[in-house]
Amino acid sequence: MDTADSLADELRAIARLDTHDPAELAAGLGLRLSRRVGAGCQGQLDDVLRVSMRGAPEAVSWRCAHELGHLALDVAGVARPHDEQLVNAVAAAIICPRREFRRAFYEHPFRLPALARVFRTTETIVALRAGEVFDLQLAVVWSGRVVRRGEIGVDDGTLRRWARHGGEDVARVVPLTDARRFVVAPRDAL
Ligand SMILES: [Zn+2]
Repeated sequence: MDTADSLADELRAIARLDTHDPAELAAGLGLRLSRRVGAGCQGQLDDVLRVSMRGAPEAVSWRCAHELGHLALDVAGVARPHDEQLVNAVAAAIICPRREFRRAFYEHPFRLPALARVFRTTETIVALRAGEVFDLQLAVVWSGRVVRRGEIGVDDGTLRRWARHGGEDVARVVPLTDARRFVVAPRDAL
């Protein structure tokens, strides 16, 4: 169990809700969701969570989880500005709680579309979460960006090349339904 998981669990404990739905968790914390995009939440449990409601439900849910991630750090007494990577890790732990995620993963091993449906999120988020929860070496690659989990022994350029042209014998490349994204992993890592 790492920091992000305990921070997410702390919010669920305060809300007394065992949920992986960020909007439900926000409501359980007494937060009102506001469409207005603001500076994020103010770190008070009776406040308003400002989240842009534009886009797909998965995107709205991610933004909501991200703001709850900031709130979790506020509650834990972490001064702002927060480490955005940690905030995102908390957001992922809110949407895909570790224990539930493990259970679902054993039920649908590497079935990213099925896992995304279970947690009502994107394949990108479940792929990266699988990397965190199971200590896997993998990366999600899209439009020049590379987001890694685990120690992959190759550089970003190689990962991008694999995503574009296939990994030959050394890597597995899995296209995601999230537009033009790929999971890339060394063949012996998965
Ligand atoms: Zn942020």
